[in-house]
Amino acid sequence: MRVLFYVAILTLAFSCSKEKEFKDLKGANTMTDKSLDQYIPVLKKLGFNTKLVEDYGTSILVEGDISFSKHYLDSLSKSPVFNSQNKQALWSSAYLTWAAVSNINVYSNSSIPSDWDLALQDAVAHWTNLTGAVITMNKTSSSGNILVTSDFGLLANNVIASAGFPPNPSTPYAQININLDFNSGAYIPHAQKVYNLVHELGHCIGYRHTNYAALGESSGWEILHGIPTTDAGSVMNGSTANNQWVGFSYFDGLSAELVYPQWADFTQKGPAVWPNTYPMTSLNGFAYAVQYTKLYRINPSDGTYSQVGAGNWTGTEAICTLNGYLYLVENSRLYRVDANTGSYVQIGGAVWPGTEGMCTLNGYLYIVENSRLYRVDSNTGIYVQLGGAVWPGTKGMCALNGSIHLVQNNRLYKIDPNTGSYVQLGGAVWAGISGMCANVTNNMLFIVQNDLYYKVSPTTGAYTRLGGIAWAGTNSMTSIAGYNYIIENSRFYRVGIN
Ligand SMILES: [Zn+2]
Repeated sequence: MRVLFYVAILTLAFSCSKEKEFKDLKGANTMTDKSLDQYIPVLKKLGFNTKLVEDYGTSILVEGDISFSKHYLDSLSKSPVFNSQNKQALWSSAYLTWAAVSNINVYSNSSIPSDWDLALQDAVAHWTNLTGAVITMNKTSSSGNILVTSDFGLLANNVIASAGFPPNPSTPYAQININLDFNSGAYIPHAQKVYNLVHELGHCIGYRHTNYAALGESSGWEILHGIPTTDAGSVMNGSTANNQWVGFSYFDGLSAELVYPQWADFTQKGPAVWPNTYPMTSLNGFAYAVQYTKLYRINPSDGTYSQVGAGNWTGTEAICTLNGYLYLVENSRLYRVDANTGSYVQIGGAVWPGTEGMCTLNGYLYIVENSRLYRVDSNTGIYVQLGGAVWPGTKGMCALNGSIHLVQNNRLYKIDPNTGSYVQLGGAVWAGISGMCANVTNNMLFIVQNDLYYKVSPTTGAYTRLGGIAWAGTNSMTSIAGYNYIIENSRFYRVGIN
């Protein structure tokens, strides 16, 4: 899954004015502090716009509110990993582990007045309540992982707060500085305090600025798939210190689910790569897939596989199982295939060009071909058209609970296998569907649509999304016992169903 490969996150935002003066704000720098210039190459390599940096003596502030200690930058610049140009390794420390991000204690010291403390309480709750992400923050009284404190005069007048990135995967950034006389002590509404605290807490768990591009950052890291690089509503936009809290944006939520998913019940099985895989099916506890030209049996427990027979199945349009056999429509012909030997026989003389889906039910094959639904005798190939409906663009055809289900013209339908009469299930639009299967363990349909994985009721069409964006490039999907199996981005995954 992509989430395993991404290294840096893109989100967040905020703070501060764009007009920075590039001056040393603290006259009290010690003699041992190196000048800002010496850190420019490191900051550049991290992707930051080095015009938006300020020297704070022992630390450097980037993009208005992100703090790097010079000590940290020194150690980074000496790190072989950092110097390897390996983007994936570059920011690996910016992510927290599941354990670290699911139990973060945030506290304030006596320098923080009650109005800011109340805002902190709200900000902590907003992260914890973010649906679909495992992020859990608790407001504690006197100790914890992140201290919120006054800046004691450190921050410039136009900087409302500062924080930084996790120093390692087990440790959130440990301190948020609040400029209590921000903007010359002007009144700050509660919602503005909350906004800025949510933003700074986001940095502490690894989020960068969503609007990094507008801020002049180069992309020195991977961008989360499916997350836009402009999102006006993102709480992680930079230079937004005057914004009011109105909630996370849709993509804030999705990116949190991707990086820190609450639901992450999927596992890659085996190292094999499966590019160019055609629809997949299952039989007797194994998955069967046609990949390039050959038919393979895949062991779902470890992803090991063996080729089944020597047949050439290039261009297989549909595959399903019935009575212990595999059935394939390939090159417009219908075949029955022995799942152990791969020997095959053509069924009937009919040609099935433009087959869009196939499933089995009640001892019959059902095929949508040339926009028509047919019931086919699996021994003779004799067929009958069911109903007068046309089904152009059928996707994800499967059977469950005695009915045929398919997505056609972006809508989900349930079809009577005897008459061809049908009902639309729910009002959802399923544009961009790339996989669908049924799982009899919990009698639910599963759809991958726009890189997201959904559990769908076969009676009402009501749906629940499981996990975050993770399924770009899905091209095959089947169910075996209590799991589904997905080939995504050429890898074979076992995926949970609840
Ligand atoms: Zn920021």
